[in-house]
Amino acid sequence: MNSARTFRAPGRVNLIGEHTDYNLGFVLPIALDLATYIETRSASDNRLHVHSAAKGEDRSWPLESIADAKPAHCWSDYVLGVARELVRAGVEIEPLHLDIRSDVPEGSGLSSSAALEVSSALALLQGRHFSRVEIATLCRRAETDFVKMPCGIMDQFVAVFGHEHAAIRIDCRSLDYRTVELPGNVEIVAVNSMVKHELGASAYRTRVEECGIAVDCIKAFNPQVRSLRDATPEMIEKTPMPRVVTRRARHIVSENLRVELFVSAAEKKNLVRMGELFNESHRSMQHDYEITCDEVDFLVDAAVGISGCFGARMTGGGFGGCTVNLVHPDFVQHFAETISARYRERFGIQPAIIRCIPSEGASEVEQDKRPSFSEKNSTLLHYKGK
Ligand code: ADP
Ligand code: MG
Repeated sequence: MNSARTFRAPGRVNLIGEHTDYNLGFVLPIALDLATYIETRSASDNRLHVHSAAKGEDRSWPLESIADAKPAHCWSDYVLGVARELVRAGVEIEPLHLDIRSDVPEGSGLSSSAALEVSSALALLQGRHFSRVEIATLCRRAETDFVKMPCGIMDQFVAVFGHEHAAIRIDCRSLDYRTVELPGNVEIVAVNSMVKHELGASAYRTRVEECGIAVDCIKAFNPQVRSLRDATPEMIEKTPMPRVVTRRARHIVSENLRVELFVSAAEKKNLVRMGELFNESHRSMQHDYEITCDEVDFLVDAAVGISGCFGARMTGGGFGGCTVNLVHPDFVQHFAETISARYRERFGIQPAIIRCIPSEGASEVEQDKRPSFSEKNSTLLHYKGK
């Protein structure tokens, strides 16, 4: 009987570059210290067993069935999809119990799904060597092919390659990446609206399709364009396309440019410019890409009027979830109290305020360094307000 081992993969907050990943453009996420932890023990039968503490549920599958597994349309698909991809890549999965615990809030745009996929991959590999890029791409395939969510590579990539003191600028076509250090005199604060509108998943698929239509239209005049990554603002405005498709494409092309401008502003420690780019990104998501909602628009409008806040935008897939805010360190408490009070007053909901601490990517955790979840919640700031 092998002893228990623990594997961790982080959630992430995307600073800028929203919906650009599946258009093979640029993104700038940071891995969070909120993470999914999977403790593994060997099993005595020939099965893979999973338990999620968050769901209070168990599932198990015979190992020989995994190669041809079919989705059951529930949370365990994220684990089973990864197991299926690993088996198809030639990995022999051992009989195991996986005990899943996470402090990444689910469905809040902080990528609990990729944290679950990547921690599952490490848990199933049990320390066997496997290319890290391949872990990210295989976990993404689990989500696109098994869970049937047509996501880009960002979430899985940053869950693997996250860095302790920096954001990661990823080129989602070449998968080249580099770290981008953020200025010292700013904190990244996420505000969770605590809402997730049902529309989210189907609208995500529609946006992916609309981007495909834009590429087809532009390609007719510019055959070198293979994705919106290759398109210029001029092409978007000149190509005859349905009006809504033009607006979707305009968001992607302008957002890609904003990632590059934001990286350069961060390197010059120009917080005012970084804040402006956050605000422009939000307005582009609100009006052109139409993936925001009243709650997150309110949080952004309120944030930009609070002293010490340089800029605010929604982060993640959209239709709820979190905003991400650039806040001067001396004003974090004031910011958290003010925004909580205003959101409560308008929507009657207490938002969770999360201090985003850049953290390293996925790895095995030594048994004596496993976190106690009650202590770990220090990054979650709950302000009662006055
Ligand atoms: P996000 O990735 O932004 O959190 P998604 O909708 O992509 O939102 O993924 C959330 C889904 O991932 C949940 O509905 C659930 O199915 C699954 N999931 C995430 N974390 C866990 C967990 N700890 N236990 C079980 N399922 C989880
Ligand atoms: Mg997700």
